[in-house]
Amino acid sequence: MKTGYLIDMDGVIYRENQLISGADEFVQSLIATGTPFLFLTNNSAPTPEDLAVRLRHLGISGVSPRQFYTSAMNTADFLSEVDPNCTVFVIGEGGLLAALHEQKIASDSLHPRYVVVGEGAASMERLGKAHECIERGARLLVTNPDNWCPVSSEKTRPGAGSTAAFLEASSGRRAYYLGKPNTYMFHRARRKLSELALSAPEQVVMIGDTMETDIRGAFEAGLQSFLVLSGSTQLEVVNDYVYQPTRILQTVGELIEEVKNGKASDRLNSPAFAEPSPHSRSGHRHQTDAFAFDKPRPRPAMTK
Ligand SMILES: [Mg+2]
Repeated sequence: MKTGYLIDMDGVIYRENQLISGADEFVQSLIATGTPFLFLTNNSAPTPEDLAVRLRHLGISGVSPRQFYTSAMNTADFLSEVDPNCTVFVIGEGGLLAALHEQKIASDSLHPRYVVVGEGAASMERLGKAHECIERGARLLVTNPDNWCPVSSEKTRPGAGSTAAFLEASSGRRAYYLGKPNTYMFHRARRKLSELALSAPEQVVMIGDTMETDIRGAFEAGLQSFLVLSGSTQLEVVNDYVYQPTRILQTVGELIEEVKNGKASDRLNSPAFAEPSPHSRSGHRHQTDAFAFDKPRPRPAMTK
């Protein structure tokens, strides 16, 4: 039995509406060899159909809507498992509304059991209503913990995590966050991957570009993780994290050959595992190296 892949999208397949080099051939090699794969995204706004269209516009054809698993679907799966007859007040877009509808979870703006927060659609009026629902006893559930999401290399937008932070502050209640890196996201994605493949893959690999979500979540779920450097993470920062990817690749293009011959390498080849040279020291040698302080400060972590 083959390796199955869980694949993050932004920073792995495309960036700023540009396909990443080798991504199309990588996906086509998965399809051609019948390798099980599922796209895994924390973006709760689009439906799986929207995402399939998006890939088609970028030039990747042959991907069915069944091959996407979003944080919105994970939230709907969670509710249908823990509280199938519950009602919800939603701040979110079409992908979240459709996922909840599919699990037959009803909307209720008077006495909902949960306030569900996803990407977008936050207005002061909706936030005020959500706040009142929480005051009346509704629990706060969030599709994903991202405080901000990249729009382009210079631009970001607020994510579901920041909307939830508003409600946590106003209500004094703590939210529960689904999506990556929550192990429940990986547990359900893995189940869906097995359903697609009609049996459980021998090993499951998560491919992602973000340490805090893709790599951390895969590690905690006991999966292998391949970090690609085509997105939000630079090689220099990988060592800052206590959890590490199994492998580090420039792009998914490096996996095409092994997908074609069916033998995924599981060797630990991360530069982060290399022995530090006994002669290397951190820090600058001279106090005169003051230019180092002029470096722009990196943005704080994307998730809580
Ligand atoms: Mg990403």
